[in-house]
Amino acid sequence: MAQEDVFKKLVAHCKEYGFVFQSSEIYDGLGAVYDYGQNGVELKNNIKKYWWDSMVLLHENVVGLDSAIFMHPTTWKASGHVDAFNDPLIDNKDSKKRYRADVLIEDLIQKFEEKINKEVTKARKRFGDSFDEAKFCETNPRVLANQEKINTVQERFAKALNANDLEDLRQIIIDYEVACPISGTKNWTDVRQFNLMFATEIGSTADGAQKIYLRPETAQGIFVNFLNVQKTGRMKLPFGIAQIGKAFRNEIVARQFIFRMREFEQMEMQFFVRPGEEMKWFEYWKEMRMKWHKAMGMGEEKYRYHDHEKLAHYANAATDIEYKMPFGFKEVEGIHSRTDFDLTQHQEHSGKKIQYFDPELNKNYVPYVIETSIGVDRMFLSIMAGAYTEEDVEGKDGKKEKRVVLKLPAVLAPIKLAVLPLVKKDGLPEKARAIVDELKFNFNCQYDEKDSIGKRYRRQDAIGTPFCVTIDHDSLEDDSVTIRYRDTMEQERVKIADLQGIIAQKVSMKELFKQM
Ligand code: ATP
Repeated sequence: MAQEDVFKKLVAHCKEYGFVFQSSEIYDGLGAVYDYGQNGVELKNNIKKYWWDSMVLLHENVVGLDSAIFMHPTTWKASGHVDAFNDPLIDNKDSKKRYRADVLIEDLIQKFEEKINKEVTKARKRFGDSFDEAKFCETNPRVLANQEKINTVQERFAKALNANDLEDLRQIIIDYEVACPISGTKNWTDVRQFNLMFATEIGSTADGAQKIYLRPETAQGIFVNFLNVQKTGRMKLPFGIAQIGKAFRNEIVARQFIFRMREFEQMEMQFFVRPGEEMKWFEYWKEMRMKWHKAMGMGEEKYRYHDHEKLAHYANAATDIEYKMPFGFKEVEGIHSRTDFDLTQHQEHSGKKIQYFDPELNKNYVPYVIETSIGVDRMFLSIMAGAYTEEDVEGKDGKKEKRVVLKLPAVLAPIKLAVLPLVKKDGLPEKARAIVDELKFNFNCQYDEKDSIGKRYRRQDAIGTPFCVTIDHDSLEDDSVTIRYRDTMEQERVKIADLQGIIAQKVSMKELFKQM
């Protein structure tokens, strides 16, 4: 199946099974704003818990915070967002569609990469076991030509971004004949800067309302509370502050479902360190965050690092963790070494000293910061994309049928356990209800008695429920039930008394954390 079709199916599946709805759908929707349905909110909460616990439970020197969305407007002047939180936009004159110039160029680089991958795949097929990929890439003329293009574009792109050279950004698009996917033409406007912050007013106009912004990142709430947390928590460097919360960006291009939203949620952690030690901690968090992703078992090959071509005005090192979405490798998380930029800026703009007294060095300084920043919604999308599977299975009368199954990590699944009486009579529903009543304190359970058992299994497969428990007539006699496992469809007879232990072990975050 083409990757585009996979993505379309995924979006449809998210709606059909109560994961994600378009916001204000009855009014034809609001661009790049989405609501999470009954299953979506559970998955989202589980992702947040997996992140929160990995930060706050596993690290005794990381504590939490929940700061407000509205902040004093000077915050955003100090952080640089008022002056520099811009995206370069470009319009196609024929389709009237708007694009981010940097994204068009990143896509161009990705096309060259795909061409190389195709050559490699073809050659691997031809040469079989004797294939030496490294040697092939060093010598094949087509691979070399494409690699040369990647290097040239990347170098020019980084230079243009760093120099804020909007003309050359446009010229790269012209020189490499990038066409608008809608109109197919190369009729482009100039590139302009566009500030992404949403503004609103606080206070009544009679009192002189003040212009304020909806925060475009949660990080600044952490920076302005650095001293509050450090002093009241008696925190010693190095230590971190973690926060989960909404952020808002008036994104120019909003065509990739929950990948790029105007209202989204971030999970950010700022780790404050001694100046000069930031690279050590940057490497630590880079590795730690990758382990967190890989522990979910979605496949090691689905993740990669991508170092930034252009460093943000505050950073001295930055990398992204990318996930292989149906539309290519895309950023899910950023890890940035933000130096002492933010704290110093807030110190200057507020006129208040924001420093740490280091008892070992016997001196005051502004700490350096390593940030890990991940979007809950992008994480959600990556998990859904990795989990969505279509399989041919043997149905009734030996006929082939299609099974759509979400192979979600069990710890993240919205419903952990479906309890299904084989028939709606003979005391089986009561027995099933008793199991739900016992296990609902530990797991999110769903009771279902409608339709054939096969149909009920399919419904649970489609929302990623890892365990279905079936109660049959024998259960009344032997206090045993059948567990059916989602991924293998294997069935196992177990004692009702053992259910809780079996499931608890399989949905425990502890097992994931132990891998980190
Ligand atoms: P992009 O280059 O894709 O616009 P970014 O580099 O601006 O992303 P950051 O500012 O580093 O993103 O934000 C940290 C994380 O927040 C991202 O890795 C992503 O997961 C998430 N994020 C950022 N913008 C959005 C958005 N518009 N919708 C959903 N998630 C987002």
